[in-house]
Amino acid sequence: MATLTRLAEVPVTEVKGIGSDRRTALTGGGIETVADLLHHLPRTYVDRSDRPRLDRVPLGTEVTVVAEVKSIATRRPRAKLTITEARISDETATLKVVWFNQPFRAKQLPPGTEAAFSGTIESYRGSLQMSNPVVGVLNSQHESLHTGRVVPIYPQIGKMKPHELIDLIASALARSRPIPDPLPEVLLATNGLMSRDEAYGQIHFPEDLQQVPPARRRLAYDELLRLELALALRKRRQTEEATGFAHRPSGELAERFVAGLPYELTGAQRRVIGEVLADLQESHPMHRLLHGEVGSGKTVVAVATLLYGVEGGWQGAIMAPTEVLAVQHYLGVTGLLAQAGLSPEPFSAPSELGMDSLFGSDGPAVSIGILTGSTASTNYRPEISRAELLDDVAGGQVDILVGTHALIQEGVHFARLGLAVVDEQHRFGVSQRVLLKEKADSIEPDLLIMTATPIPRTLSMTLYGDLDISGLDEMPPGRSPVKTVVLSRAEESKAWGLIEEEVRAGRQAFVVCPLVEESAKIEAASATEEQARLTGLLPGLRVGLIHGQLRPAEKEAAMSAFRAGDTDVLVSTTVIEVGIDVPNATVMVIEDADRFGLSQLHQLRGRVGRGSHPGTCLLISDAPADDAAERLAAMVKTNDGFELANEDLRIRGQGTVFGDRQSGMADLRIADLFRDLELLIDARRDAFAIVDGDPDLVEHGDLADEVLAFLGESVEWLFKS
Ligand code: ADP
Ligand code: MG
Repeated sequence: MATLTRLAEVPVTEVKGIGSDRRTALTGGGIETVADLLHHLPRTYVDRSDRPRLDRVPLGTEVTVVAEVKSIATRRPRAKLTITEARISDETATLKVVWFNQPFRAKQLPPGTEAAFSGTIESYRGSLQMSNPVVGVLNSQHESLHTGRVVPIYPQIGKMKPHELIDLIASALARSRPIPDPLPEVLLATNGLMSRDEAYGQIHFPEDLQQVPPARRRLAYDELLRLELALALRKRRQTEEATGFAHRPSGELAERFVAGLPYELTGAQRRVIGEVLADLQESHPMHRLLHGEVGSGKTVVAVATLLYGVEGGWQGAIMAPTEVLAVQHYLGVTGLLAQAGLSPEPFSAPSELGMDSLFGSDGPAVSIGILTGSTASTNYRPEISRAELLDDVAGGQVDILVGTHALIQEGVHFARLGLAVVDEQHRFGVSQRVLLKEKADSIEPDLLIMTATPIPRTLSMTLYGDLDISGLDEMPPGRSPVKTVVLSRAEESKAWGLIEEEVRAGRQAFVVCPLVEESAKIEAASATEEQARLTGLLPGLRVGLIHGQLRPAEKEAAMSAFRAGDTDVLVSTTVIEVGIDVPNATVMVIEDADRFGLSQLHQLRGRVGRGSHPGTCLLISDAPADDAAERLAAMVKTNDGFELANEDLRIRGQGTVFGDRQSGMADLRIADLFRDLELLIDARRDAFAIVDGDPDLVEHGDLADEVLAFLGESVEWLFKS
């Protein structure tokens, strides 16, 4: 008897029959401990229990019957002939069995022996008998594991024979059982769960196949519960340690801002702004994830959020993943505020926006700065040196600072940072939050994380179990879904034809060049070539170029030319993947689309159809491999990011979805986030209830030990209190 935590520490060599050769093979398969071995679950089962009853066996065909030997005797009617005769029976009938010249059978099968007899039953002189059957004695543990029952079939490990694995797992189980159950009775009852001990027994050696699903369900629940316990603890710790404060916004700036927009807010925008406002007024810091499909209008929500802070005399920050996006946010926010008469003095709007006339109005001033990492000056605003800007931030003269990761780097000090918006970076993790806190003199700023990455509900529940989630589930009116078409290379001229047509109608187009993993240089070179090629193919059209190897100023020049309509077509690498907002662009051509992942394709497609003109996305691809063909088909089929994310999960499997996340996903060997959604919801509810009632898990010590044993170092801090 040993707890699961203990079994996770016992090396496999403690199991009978595992020497160094087998250990090496098992280690190769990722199995080091007894718990690992017990979690090596059957891939499938073969039901060998389906043996005929003696009173129903058919005559004349080969059958296997399992029965007990009642009597056995050997006669020698003449020299060179022995006849061994036995009577065997099961609960239903008795049968005569005869062997000729196999006298050893009498010794092998003394009365009381249970065995499988394979042979043909015939009627002989009025009674039934089986002659010369092949025999498998079932008395040894080995035989009974392999015949006459449901036999597990395991995923192959090294060169190990199937029956070897069966035997090893059987001895591991025998050595471990009974495995105590860490779950309180009441949870077993409310969730209708099998006991842990029974679950391990039944999953490996089920009495019958009906026992497998409930056994699997129990083990999956255990995994999900561990994961959700870690998340519940994390959320709890964050609230405990947080030194937040309650905003007391007057609403004046935010209301004025909303009133100044050239459109009405969507119902979803209104609702989310309300959710954010409620959070801000609480004294613990907001940790909210705002999920909104590309083009759903997250920026407006971000600005309203920041203004609620600014009203109370706090500073706000908005952080973007790339410089291009930071600049876009800077321009966007500046423009939006100007439209609302909240003129961003003392910094004036860039003249390219053509809004000078809007400035200097007598609205309350909101000042905006931009900080990116690459150069000494602030780059986009060369007239202001970096040092001057940092001074203004530290002195509190800048109300909203837009930027890249540079915002949370050393040397940046805010006078009173009250909230931060992080765009397109759902990976903004615990360590970044710590940095943010430092920027704010240990007051924890409210945090709004925005993402368009479609996250299936199951994933958001596990990955972001410690964040509150808001969804912008409604598009601004007047959008029509982007039409998506797959073109072969031979048909590419259709794409260029469409671009010419759209440009003639006053629209613009993106052409995205093939993704070259791990070589931004080659990628840039191919984009440069593509620009030259398209300049030839599209006479009279102005073809711009942007790629990752350009200097920030060059990138920005290319972007602003495109934004201003000075170029018609923008040839690009994936630097435009996220966030770019040029509503006049209606065509998105993606070269070698099969090389892109589904979420990337969806992000790229989201760059068009953002205005009132319908968009088209053309995926150029020749003979894609199976997976890629499925991805392209999914793109044609739907515009719905959630549906695509689910497709992606289905095509790629959950392992790759988590990729570099270390957050305990490796523990999910049995649970499948797809199949087990209901169970995940139950486990999550139970985990949060447990932590609510017992924040340090002192009354749930076994569960705490398990979380530590299975989720590893990344969760240790949760238990240091
Ligand atoms: P995303 O959620 O992808 O970041 P943006 O905030 O960039 O989306 O908004 C996409 C486009 O939709 C922008 O051009 C913006 O001006 C416009 N927009 C946002 N909200 C509305 C609305 N309520 N009505 C009409 N257009 C809107
Ligand atoms: Mg955006």
